[in-house]
This record gives sequence, C-alpha cells and structure tokens, in this order.
Amino acid sequence: NTSNDSDKTLIDSNTSDKIQLDRVDSIDSQDDQGGHNWKRGNSLSVTMKEWDIPYEQLILSDTIGIGRFGTVYKGHWHGPVAVKVLAMDDSDNQAQLAAFKLEVGVLRKTRHENLVLFMGACMKPPRLAIVTSFCKGETLFSLIHLKKDNFKLNKALIVASQVAQGMGYLHARGIIHKDLRTKNIFVDAGKVIITDFGLFNVTKICRGNKKDWLSIPPGWLCYLSPEVIKTLHARQNINMDLPFTEMSDLYAFGTVWYELLCGDWPFKSHPAETIIWQVGRGMKQSLNTIGAPREVKDILMSCWAFKKEERPEFSQISKALERIPKHRLIRSPSHPVHLSRSAEV
Ligand code: ADP
Ligand code: MG
Repeated sequence: NTSNDSDKTLIDSNTSDKIQLDRVDSIDSQDDQGGHNWKRGNSLSVTMKEWDIPYEQLILSDTIGIGRFGTVYKGHWHGPVAVKVLAMDDSDNQAQLAAFKLEVGVLRKTRHENLVLFMGACMKPPRLAIVTSFCKGETLFSLIHLKKDNFKLNKALIVASQVAQGMGYLHARGIIHKDLRTKNIFVDAGKVIITDFGLFNVTKICRGNKKDWLSIPPGWLCYLSPEVIKTLHARQNINMDLPFTEMSDLYAFGTVWYELLCGDWPFKSHPAETIIWQVGRGMKQSLNTIGAPREVKDILMSCWAFKKEERPEFSQISKALERIPKHRLIRSPSHPVHLSRSAEV
C-alpha cells in the first residue's frame, strides 16, 4: 500500500523542506481565504494547494447527469473538464471535509492512460467538487445496453485488456476502485478510460446514511462480490462501510467481462432480494450456452470465484486475455456469443 507517501507532505514555503504529517486530515489549505483556520506558528503552505481549484475558476455548462455522487457538469478549466459537485450534508462538518481530502488525495497519484485524468478538486465547503478530464466517447454501459452494440470477441478482448491494465495499475498503487462497472468505463475510438475509482466512500461521506438498501441503484448488485453482498443483509444500509477489496474489484471485472460477451447483465430481471440471496450463497449466472472459447469462460469463472482468495490478480487477467488463441477469433469474427438468461440455481 502506497497511500501514505506524498499526500502527507507539507512544504515549508521558507525553506522548501518537506515535513511529514501524521495525518493528512489535519491539513487545511484554506486558512488564508477565511475558511477554516489551520493553526500553525509558521508559514507552511501545503502541496494540496497544487491541486486545489478555486470553484470560481470553473466555468460550468451543461449538466451531464446526476449520479450517486452528486451532479456532474460539463465544464471548462484550461480545456473541457467534467466537474463532480458533491451534495454536502452540512457545510460545517470538518470530519466530512477531512475525509473528502483524504479520499481525494489518493486520486492525484494516478497516472495511467486508461484512467481518467484527475485535475484537481474544489475544497472549500459547501462547494466540494472533483475536476477530471472530460471523457469523450461513450460509456461501455451505453454501448452495450442502450445501443446494443454487438461486441465481437476480439473487440471485447481489446476493451477488457485495457480495463485490466488500468485496474492493475490502481491496485499496484494501493487503490481499490470499489465501483467498477460499465457506467464508469468510457470508450473513445477504441481507447478505454476508467472513471470514479476510489470515490465510493466520498459518496457515503457526502450523502450521510439516509439511503435504504432497498433503494439500491438498478444494475449495481451484479457487481458486488459474495463477501460484499452478504453484508447488505446485516447492515440494511448501503452507505455503511462495505468490505471492498482488490478481490471484490476482480469480481466486478468479471461482470464487466460478462456484459461485454453477452450484451446483458447476469441475473437480469431478478429482484434485488433474490440476487443478494443467490450470490451470497455462491450461485452464479449460467455459462452453459456461451459460444466462446474455453479460456474466455475460465476468466469469467475465476473472477467470480466464491472465495475471494481464489480470484486472480489483474496482471494474471491481462496474461490470460493475451493467451486467448487469436486464430480462433480471426477465423470466426462473427462468432455468436449468447448466454442463457436464466441463473444457475
Ligand atoms: P454514474 O456513474 O452512475 O453514471 P456519475 O455521477 O458518475 O454516475 O455520472 C453522471 C453522468 O456523468 C453520467 O452520464 C456519466 O457518464 C457522466 N460522466 C461522469 N464522469 C464523466 C467524465 N469524466 N467525462 C464525461 N462524462 C462523465
Ligand atoms: Mg460514474
């Protein structure tokens, strides 16, 4: 885990010496703007300022959508950007603000061509926002489920490989995505961009505990691994800490792989309670009728392994995807990939 390095670093503006802080949440860069007073006897400024974007500098245009996180706007800040404005419960809540900074501090350490570019954040309550590059193209969700694009196996492979590479990088940096799903994967001219990594807890921080688990967003449950889904029963609340790990990201990747292959979700049209019950007991979507090479299904089954320790790492996924025999793909480019819609119960 590399999450405790430079985000805990202060720079003394007089000496440029780096000073390690014990806790990043005691940093507040806004004292000079009349916001919150970070008591210090010297003239420290913080590296966080490097990515603190004053809200006034953003030019917001269209609302792109309203997600779990808050409202997403198309904006302009040295070029087109996406601005995620958080719905803050209570603008005076210092714990919320500190948690936001802690979570967001992780994002600036991500530099990979398959990850959305984190540009900065607005950190002055009540205006908390995250600014990233604007993703052109479409989400994988929209391509698969709305446009009903038929992903041939070789195209599915190209997309999945890039997702695996981006995810492998995140994990190597000690970052768990926690919300990997086709709505958070953009594809633009064959290039994959993953968004919303590490923001799941920010959502929780900013929305409080109001949401009941019965109002679970549609299409979300099928990304939850057995060990995560089981906790929904006990907690009765999706905003409490869910036990996400690298291995639960792997499970979610399996579902993305399934969607790419089959053009649908596993457990489609099953009620939430049924999915929770079935997945929690190790039941899986049937792959009996899948018309794809054995290796393709093996990847799916390994990602969906009931025991999280048995799931592979993303580096192994990348290798497994590479090993899928190319000649079989070339010979049958229009190979139909169909799955039974019914769950294996
Ligand atoms: P969800 O992931 O459930 O769609 P979000 O709050 O993440 O909810 O996104 C809301 C809307 O904004 C979606 O339509 C999403 O595709 C779009 N969006 C999110 N991030 C970006 C981005 N970086 N570039 C372009 N559009 C984005
Ligand atoms: Mg999203």
